[in-house]
Amino acid sequence: MSKARKVHVKSFGCQMNVYDSHRMADTLAPAGFTETARPEDADLVILNTCHIREKAADKVYSEIGRIRVMKEEAAAQGRRVLIAVAGCVAQAEGQEIMRRAGAVDLVVGSQNYHRLPDMIARADGGEKIVDTEFPVEDKFDALAAPARETIRQRGVAAFVTVQEGCDKFCTFCVVPYTRGAEISRPVDKIVAEVERLAAAGVREVTLIGQNVNAYHGLDTGGAPASLGKLLRRLSDVRGIARLRYTTSHPNDMDDELIAAHAGLPALMPYVHLPVQSGSDRILAAMNRKHSRAQYLAAIARLRAARGDIAFTSDFIVGFPGETEEDFRDTLTLVEEVGFAGAYTFAYSPRPGTPAAELDDQVPDSEKSERLQRLQALITRHWHGFNASFAGKTLDVLLEKPGKLPGQLVGKSPYLQAVQVMAPRSLIGTVVPVTITDIGTNTLFGALVQPDKASALVAAGAET
Ligand code: SAM
Ligand code: SF4
Repeated sequence: MSKARKVHVKSFGCQMNVYDSHRMADTLAPAGFTETARPEDADLVILNTCHIREKAADKVYSEIGRIRVMKEEAAAQGRRVLIAVAGCVAQAEGQEIMRRAGAVDLVVGSQNYHRLPDMIARADGGEKIVDTEFPVEDKFDALAAPARETIRQRGVAAFVTVQEGCDKFCTFCVVPYTRGAEISRPVDKIVAEVERLAAAGVREVTLIGQNVNAYHGLDTGGAPASLGKLLRRLSDVRGIARLRYTTSHPNDMDDELIAAHAGLPALMPYVHLPVQSGSDRILAAMNRKHSRAQYLAAIARLRAARGDIAFTSDFIVGFPGETEEDFRDTLTLVEEVGFAGAYTFAYSPRPGTPAAELDDQVPDSEKSERLQRLQALITRHWHGFNASFAGKTLDVLLEKPGKLPGQLVGKSPYLQAVQVMAPRSLIGTVVPVTITDIGTNTLFGALVQPDKASALVAAGAET
């Protein structure tokens, strides 16, 4: 039996990192580590990092500075604390991290964290370790499954990575370098993971991947399956009420996936479809391999399959060479689609990517001015989208207690947060809620037929 120790994992960046952080903790459990939310109690602190923009990478070094102080305080009391840097900064900067931050004990790349127990054993012996080679073995095969109780504690909505890496090489993006080439996990392994989650009370699963709709994992017969097929298979898993997927590329929106939106009630009417820019000139310079018209056509096909799909997107402003006219094309695209929300970013040159080498970089002042204009427009659309639900009834998956006594927080089909007064026994059920008030980041509602909902739960019925 291993010595009991505590691990604190801090996640930066995307949902894929959140999933990886959980799997790191699962993999360390058999080695005697339990998770703690308090870094000051930890014997091992793992920073699971993001390299997508310069600011994200900088945050990691300031966080290492904070943890170093804790490590020194613990050492003064005779307690040894290990610091590990994992994820995309680890993958991109490797040895450089050890040089810049001497307090770090180990650096583990995004494809290698299944080897953590062995690395920690070596670091315990005083070795400094950098492991960022892309391995030949499949990390997913080597990872320990989470215990049932751990799944329960993480809640009724879970992420499952089904695809990793990217072969698209947009000229601004580090992902193909930090996460490597596209790989898809086999269908059977994903089904087994989702069945295990469902058996422990998970009701909603979001399939994640840098390019999730490029999924082409092998099915039982050894033939490649599309994301549409995978979703169809998962919709049969008992206990799973809702399925989602993110993030998609417009070029990989194939007919099977669109048909899944038309035919699978469990697939939620919400699609995050990054476009980055509304200007064909900039889309070409970004190597997005689709035009504005092709993006709009993908949206139209999805809307024809299911009219109520809410769309969100990612935008980059101030890509090298972007003129005011190009930027206006982005604004008109936003008006044309009517997004329910979007993430907006000022272009951040990333070392090693083609766009960072371009001469016509846009000045920071122009980037922030455009960012503000775009954000104002998107906020208007987002608030308009939310306001359109006043007085309507939405199916809400109740996920966890809210801030007020007696309050629960859940999600609408369109991924809006909804707060409602409801008994705790309803956590994990999908209930109809009438929207009574629209907040900035959340909708407020009241249970429709609260007595009937409670009775359903008492009878153990599936909603
Ligand atoms: N695979 C997705 C796609 O096809 O768009 C997105 C992946 S990336 C992790 C998330 C978002 O970060 C991108 O959609 C883009 O808007 C933004 N991003 C990536 N590189 C960036 C950069 N160099 N500067 C600013 N934003 C960037
Ligand atoms: Fe990056 Fe997405 Fe482009 Fe791949 S498709 S290079 S992950 S922005």
